[in-house]
Amino acid sequence: MVETRDDPTIVEPTDAIIRVTATCICGSDLWPYRGVTDVDHQVMGHEYVGVVEEIGAQVATVKVGDFVVGSFWASDNTCEICRAGYQSHCVHRTLMGLIGTQSDRARIPLADGTLVATPRQPDADLVPSLLAASDVLGTGWFAALAAQAGPGKTVAVVGDGAVGLLAVLAAKQLGAPRIIAFSRHPDRQRLARDFGATDIIEERGDDGVVKVQELTSGLGAHSVVEAVGTQESMMQAIHATRPGGHVGFVGVAHGVSIPGELLFRSGVHLHGGPAPVRQFLPELLQLIWDRTIHPGKVFDLTLPIGQAAEGYRAMDERRAIKVLLTPTDVNETRGSSR
Ligand SMILES: [Zn+2]
Repeated sequence: MVETRDDPTIVEPTDAIIRVTATCICGSDLWPYRGVTDVDHQVMGHEYVGVVEEIGAQVATVKVGDFVVGSFWASDNTCEICRAGYQSHCVHRTLMGLIGTQSDRARIPLADGTLVATPRQPDADLVPSLLAASDVLGTGWFAALAAQAGPGKTVAVVGDGAVGLLAVLAAKQLGAPRIIAFSRHPDRQRLARDFGATDIIEERGDDGVVKVQELTSGLGAHSVVEAVGTQESMMQAIHATRPGGHVGFVGVAHGVSIPGELLFRSGVHLHGGPAPVRQFLPELLQLIWDRTIHPGKVFDLTLPIGQAAEGYRAMDERRAIKVLLTPTDVNETRGSSR
């Protein structure tokens, strides 16, 4: 449902107002959509790129007219946690989803810490990739790093949504020679291969684990990305990892419980959670700007924001990998969606 909301205004001197150029529907938006999480006229959306229209008195690093990318956590980028690279756990963090960027204009708190400007206005074809950097690419990148993907490593990716597919891209970019994608959808398998997957496994759960072991002399993968967030996917990820290996988990966990005995016996490293996307934005924007990576390929459906409901349906039914929403003209009805 798209509704009219009041225009955002500067509340804190560290705020910026952006005109949203593009936003999108996240897999995590589907949990409230499906009714797993209660919502009542909730604003939606936490992924965004746009042009700065107004800045608060204390904003210094972005200026009016800049094209900016930000992550789904607003962060000051100066506290001790941020400086350690964990901006998603910033002591002053604000969840952008509570503000809602599936709208025409949005207030960005802590603009200096949150937003990164591109060198110039981007060519139109770069916008989807820059938007991907706002969440799914940054999250896939974090997952690959948390799983210690790199040269000499066999990486397996559980989950063929946008984050999983972009974890494949990240693993490739980080130098992994062998990348296994779990997927049973031909279009997603194609994109996984395009992003660098060397092997596809269609089986799930224990059967999928057996296939990974067959490809790795019975040892399991060095690095496994978990990008779903269910009990089955987490168990699949842990079981597919060799002793001493690393699991990077970024699927928003719903009802996941890891038995202590399993964890004790497995000998694997587990690291993950909400990705500190902000840490990676400068590097990722450069890779996109230089056209080294093309993460925007995950968007396979573009709709005007007024048709957001159809976008939710398409993703829920897995007809679309990821939906890009284009805002209405600024002078038309402003919308947020649920
Ligand atoms: Zn901070």
